[in-house]
Amino acid sequence: CVLVAGSANLDFVVRASHVPAPGETVLGRELALFPGGKGANQAVACARAGGAPTRMLLALGDDAHAVPIERSLREAGVEPHIVRVADRATGTAFVCVSDDAENAITVAPGANDALRGEDLPDLSGVGHLLLQLESPLAAVEAWAQRARAAGVRVVLNAAPARPLPSSLLDAIDLLIVNEGELAVLSGIDGDLDAALACIPTRGVVVTLGAHGCRARLDGEHLHQPAFAVSAVDTTGAGDTFCGTLVAALARGLSFAAALRRACAASALACTRAGAQASVPSHDEVERWLGE
Ligand code: ADP
Repeated sequence: CVLVAGSANLDFVVRASHVPAPGETVLGRELALFPGGKGANQAVACARAGGAPTRMLLALGDDAHAVPIERSLREAGVEPHIVRVADRATGTAFVCVSDDAENAITVAPGANDALRGEDLPDLSGVGHLLLQLESPLAAVEAWAQRARAAGVRVVLNAAPARPLPSSLLDAIDLLIVNEGELAVLSGIDGDLDAALACIPTRGVVVTLGAHGCRARLDGEHLHQPAFAVSAVDTTGAGDTFCGTLVAALARGLSFAAALRRACAASALACTRAGAQASVPSHDEVERWLGE
C-alpha cells in the first residue's frame, strides 16, 4: 500500500478580485470550508487514483474542525491513523483565491506540529511512503530514514520551500518540487537544467504549472506537457499531482506513464474549486484521456 504521513487542515477559502498585497485589505466573497493540508490532499488524490490501498498518519485536535477532515479521508477510501492532540487546535489554513486563479495561503499548523518520528505506524505491506514539509522536519527525517531502512520507496514533496539537510535528502528516492521550491533547494534560480542537475536524489520531478513537468530518473530526462484546461482554482493542483503520481507508480506504471497521469489529474483539479473536493477519480481521468 501507499502510506502518506503529514498534515491535515481545515481550509477557510475566500474568493476575491485579487490576492491582497502586504498591508492591503480586500473585500472578498462568500466563505467556503474545505478539508485540506498537503498530506491529506495527497492521500485523497492517491486513494482516488486507485491501484493501491492508501493509509495516512495525521494529527488532529480534539475539536469540531477535525470532523470534516476525518470524514473526507474516509469518504475517499483513505485509512487514517490519527494521533489525537488534546491541547492543540486542529490545523487550519486561510486561503485567498483571486479571479485569475492565483492563491495566497497562511497556515496555522496546530496539532500537525505535534507529530513525532515514533508516530509512524508499522511499515509491513507499505511499498511507498509519501511525505511533505508541513510536519516537523525532525519527524519527516526520522520517517524517511525508517522507511528507507525497511526497503520502502520514499517520495518527498519538498513543499513548502525550505533548504534540506543531506541527512534527509539521502533517504529520498524521488523528490517532487515546483519551480520555487527547486530554486530554494538548489540555490539556482532561472536555469532549470542546472538546478535539476544539482539535486542529489535518484529521481526528481519539477512541476511547471501550465507548462506541465520536467523530470529526471537515473540520468534519463523526461518532459510531460500540461493538458490544456481553463483553470478556475489551482489550489491542490500540486497535491493532486503528487498523490496521483505515487498511486500510478505503486500500480506499476512506468515513470513516463505515471507523469502523464499526474499531469492529467492535476489539470482536471484546476477546473474546480477546493483542494480535496477538486481531485478527479481514476475513472474520470481515464475517460478524459480517452483510455
Ligand atoms: P504547485 O501548485 O505546487 O505550485 P504547479 O503550479 O506546478 O504546482 O502545478 C502542479 C501541476 O498541476 C502541473 O505540473 C500541471 O500538471 C498541473 N497544472 C497546474 N496549473 C495548470 C494549468 N493552468 N493548466 C493545466 N495544468 C496545470
